[in-house]
Amino acid sequence: MALIVQKYGGTSVGSPERIKNVARRVASWRAKGDQVVVVVSAMSGETNRLLALAKEVQANPDSRELDVIASTGEQVTIGLLSMALMDIGVKARSYTGGQVRILTDSAFTKARILSIDEENIRRDLDDGLVVVVAGFQGVDESGNVTTLGRGGSDTSAVAIAAALKADECQIYTDVDGVYTTDPRIVPEARRLETVTFEEMLEMASLGSKVLQIRAVEFAGKYKVKLRVLSSLEELGQEGPGTLITFEEDVKMEQPIISGIAFTRDEAKLTVLGVPDRPGIAYQILGPVAEAAIDVDMIIQNVGYDGSTDFSFTVPRGEFAKATAILEQVKGHIGARQITGDNKAAKVSVVGVGMRSHVGIASKMFRTLAEEGINIQMISTSEIKISVVIDEKYLELAVRVLHKVFDLDQVPA
Ligand code: ADP
Ligand code: ASP
Ligand code: MG
Repeated sequence: MALIVQKYGGTSVGSPERIKNVARRVASWRAKGDQVVVVVSAMSGETNRLLALAKEVQANPDSRELDVIASTGEQVTIGLLSMALMDIGVKARSYTGGQVRILTDSAFTKARILSIDEENIRRDLDDGLVVVVAGFQGVDESGNVTTLGRGGSDTSAVAIAAALKADECQIYTDVDGVYTTDPRIVPEARRLETVTFEEMLEMASLGSKVLQIRAVEFAGKYKVKLRVLSSLEELGQEGPGTLITFEEDVKMEQPIISGIAFTRDEAKLTVLGVPDRPGIAYQILGPVAEAAIDVDMIIQNVGYDGSTDFSFTVPRGEFAKATAILEQVKGHIGARQITGDNKAAKVSVVGVGMRSHVGIASKMFRTLAEEGINIQMISTSEIKISVVIDEKYLELAVRVLHKVFDLDQVPA
């Protein structure tokens, strides 16, 4: 008998029919004698609808109340799935995050899980019930409802799996695994049998939304066996999905590049003609950080004649706010001009094989040059190279890079 935690995302529970479909899948695992905890998302589109509703009432929504609203989507799904399970003869009971006691910090809309009380879940499992838990939500010390950030149900599932020391955490979604890139953009993308934690961490942080980054971090830290699978395949005909592995487990020769990740929602800001002297980066980025704006890539040019240019990227949603801050600091740092571009995109190639191979960057840059795509910024780590380009070339860039790195070919 195994203990399995399964997570079903928005599309997988997007209609009453789909919910019944999930119930049948859960029942088939129960029938094998396994203990099952199911974590569910809100029905697809529901979280967006709730957030939009909040904004209609309060343009800049209060974050505590926003979590009260956003968390309700999942509460509907747990009730519906529990009913669907009962209807086919499977004993089930639903829990909100607060009822389990998924304790988080108080950072509304992006809370972190601190601990999980497993007592209720264990007792129900031992009584033969399927436990259905609302993803994406928790409760803080004072009893306030919190949410874990977009895509946070993945993290709920992995955290519960870690707390229960589950044998496997299965993330069921609308694709049958982790692909070499988003299959919606590149139809030739291939499902990966395995991907290492490190690579998955990079891919998630660089924009592949198939797993929330915190879920991958958690799984790595607590050594949770994590698998991504499709909920839409016929029962009994499911493929193996993608297993996230620890590098040392992998015996076979790995391809150099495993995948391509991208994000569209980037914006670039440039401060032109700042004095080239100590403290300038701090004077520019300090106020940006104070406004809790995430800065990603940063470039400072080599100074010339005592002055230099300074560029950085922020999430597109923060572009207006960041520009306003720079306009304010412009005067006292003595900058000539602030320019900005909120149509930037970031493309990244990721692979642990980069550690032992040279020439990946030059191949990437040559490929983009041949397509006439201008690279605006570059950043690298041991296992990834990212470039910022004009958003209008994003899909083209992803496609040509996917091809030139042979990601459409089954590795020999
Ligand atoms: P869920 O609602 O189940 O959490 P998400 O929409 O959050 O599902 O994530 C699944 C989606 O992630 C897929 O439909 C796919 O378009 C997208 N995606 C992006 N990059 C990848 C990738 N490398 N492999 C698989 N899917 C990816
Ligand atoms: N429902 C939440 C969202 O849309 C959490 C999730 O689906 O993982 O972001
Ligand atoms: Mg998701």
